[in-house]
Amino acid sequence: MLADRTSLLSVSGTSLARASAKVASGSGRDIIDLSAGEISAELPLTIREGAMDAIRLGINGYTDPIGLAGLRHALALRVSRETGLAFGVEEIAVTAGAKQALFNAFMILLNPGDEVLLPAPCWSTFAAQIRLAGARAVQIETRENGYVPQLADLENALTPLTRAIVINTPNNPTGAIYDERTLIDIAELSIACDLWILFDECYGAFTHDGIRHRSILSLVPEVRSRTIMVNAFSKSLALTGWRIGYMAAPADVISAAKALQSHTTSNPNVIAQHAVLKYLLEGDVSAEANLRGQLDAARRAGLDALSSLKAIRLADAAGGFYFYLDMSELLQSQEGRFAGRTADDVAAALLREAGVVVVSGTVFGDPAGLRLSYGLAPERVRAGCDRLVAFFEPPQ
Ligand code: PLP
Repeated sequence: MLADRTSLLSVSGTSLARASAKVASGSGRDIIDLSAGEISAELPLTIREGAMDAIRLGINGYTDPIGLAGLRHALALRVSRETGLAFGVEEIAVTAGAKQALFNAFMILLNPGDEVLLPAPCWSTFAAQIRLAGARAVQIETRENGYVPQLADLENALTPLTRAIVINTPNNPTGAIYDERTLIDIAELSIACDLWILFDECYGAFTHDGIRHRSILSLVPEVRSRTIMVNAFSKSLALTGWRIGYMAAPADVISAAKALQSHTTSNPNVIAQHAVLKYLLEGDVSAEANLRGQLDAARRAGLDALSSLKAIRLADAAGGFYFYLDMSELLQSQEGRFAGRTADDVAAALLREAGVVVVSGTVFGDPAGLRLSYGLAPERVRAGCDRLVAFFEPPQ
């Protein structure tokens, strides 16, 4: 007999897609995996050296539950630069990836029965963690508006139980970057209705076509006392396995996060903390620049191939490393081989018939979407997208 809580959870859809890619590759077929939520790239040299130095020095032992003071200091400087506001160490917690920062935030902010506004399609962990905190995610549809939430839709969803709003920009899965007007509107709404803002900017390092990512605090500093910013090195340095993220928030939120982490994970891995600290202290920007170069080339290759899709809408792909396809017209049509099918059916058929792994939109609360990652070599992205186009629109 397991606790009721376990019925609130299932393994994340992206993990399942990853697993099916592995199984299919094992069969000897040439499978192109466009499902990954991570960039396939070399580990940065400074990170390797930082970890080796820490191991050579025999570094061990618990750290402060919310991280080494030096690392928190370096992160405070980084957040200060990005927001234009002076942040101190008392406003920073180092976490085991952004996921732990988000989990902290929901556990700290939400009482059972509270509601959280969640623009959708959205990364599935937000809703899972909100449920775990006993609260309810209220999805705000964004598909008709370039995947950016509209103020009127947010206002219409408000109830006396609304406690927070989640903003994820650049967005997973859609790649949308929220424009400044939208961020200002959300900030003003949160002040007027006394809401917390959870600002997840894990993909902020990757923006395209000259579109900038802005911290909501740099636009409306007044929301500082009601905002929890969440970030990590998982995407920006392709450091998913090292599990270093952070939250920047008012000092009382950080104190609560410290208590929570002290009773759950104790502290983020000490060697990984030293590795990231070295990276930040040395001001080495080459790894991020290399990743940006790789992603730009992969994005161009993918967009070039996908531009010949006729019956499927491709979102702008302004940020992050995802293409997002809207198949609603195709699936709703009365005839053709996709009539009446679901995104899950299409994702399964793509793997079976074309050897391409993608993530079905149902994972993100959208029954008509498909997410493709371009975090791999440009030629593989091109090949995967070519196969996908041929699958949807076979040459006559
Ligand atoms: N936030 C968003 C929007 C993500 O897409 C992800 C990972 O896919 C995370 C947070 C989690 O990042 P981390 O690996 O640092 O826990």
